[in-house]
Amino acid sequence: MLEDKAKKSGDFRSLREYYNYLTTGKKIEDFGYNPLLSHAHEKNRKPIAAYNTYREQLLSAVHQRLVEEVRNKSQVDQLFNKQFFLNGEPLRYILKAPPESTESFVRGLRSFYEGVNKVAREKYGLQPITVRGEESCYLCKRTGRVIVVEEYNGKETLALCPHLYHRVMEESGINRRFQHKGFDEFIVEESNKAAVRAMRKYASYFETVLQTGESLLLIGPVGTGKTHLGMAVLMELIRRPLYLRFELLRKRYISLPQFLNEMRASFREERLHELAECEFLVVDDLGIETLDEWGRDKVFTLVNTRYQEKLPTIFISDLSPQELVNKLDERILSRLHEMARGVRIGGEDRRRKTDR
Ligand SMILES: [Zn+2]
Repeated sequence: MLEDKAKKSGDFRSLREYYNYLTTGKKIEDFGYNPLLSHAHEKNRKPIAAYNTYREQLLSAVHQRLVEEVRNKSQVDQLFNKQFFLNGEPLRYILKAPPESTESFVRGLRSFYEGVNKVAREKYGLQPITVRGEESCYLCKRTGRVIVVEEYNGKETLALCPHLYHRVMEESGINRRFQHKGFDEFIVEESNKAAVRAMRKYASYFETVLQTGESLLLIGPVGTGKTHLGMAVLMELIRRPLYLRFELLRKRYISLPQFLNEMRASFREERLHELAECEFLVVDDLGIETLDEWGRDKVFTLVNTRYQEKLPTIFISDLSPQELVNKLDERILSRLHEMARGVRIGGEDRRRKTDR
């Protein structure tokens, strides 16, 4: 197994460097792992199992070789434990029972993360190291993803590492007011249950959505929880991180009028491009204001880019389809019509009972 590792411990300045040299090997992708699919996806099962077996064998071979060469088993064992924290595999978060809610899951993962840091600090004397402005992470080994082992159903999934959580939430543009409002906090009633189901499904099958580029237009009266639902999808996707070419997918929320105002004030065209090209976008308050020519132009660029690149988008509007027709530019409408499936929330009769 270590036949290609010709150097000996004497070639290195420390045992740790030697260990790093010996344990560097194949990556999970070399076994056919597809980071575009979810970790629990059927097609990823074999690669994961093959990789785990490989790593187990590799580490045991490294251990054996070190003990033989160094002849001090306790020193090697100690190094092994420490290395496991320093640069081994990402640690696993084991769930014995299904979490009560997404919130409680996130809380549990957070305390696991804090526990790992405590062990690293107190047991192995490891201080947080800052690499390129980012603190190294003993839990995810800076991969940003934590492997969650769901013991009760034998599945493994991925979650966003808590060390990234706040940054990703902030980047996404989720309002503070909604930061603790996921699907679990949404009050389901007869008038909204079809919409809730559609949105949950959209989030659960996001790998497929990403391939088809399916978009939604969520319409319904003011005060029916449309923004909450859009944010819930976004948070679900943040907590269950997805990767494209090993990069975390970019997921953003904007309120359209607010975004246009910012654009008008800052002239930052690159912000428009960033939003037009991010892998998932929630566009809220569509049609709230009548657009002037400049605004129509910007919105068309946004919608048209997403349409052409097949990028999943959730549009949210308080207006009825007829009102949207009156309010939006024909070019924008025709794109919306082609790319987005309509989802209605609330009953027609409840319309405008609540004030804006
Ligand atoms: Zn981490």
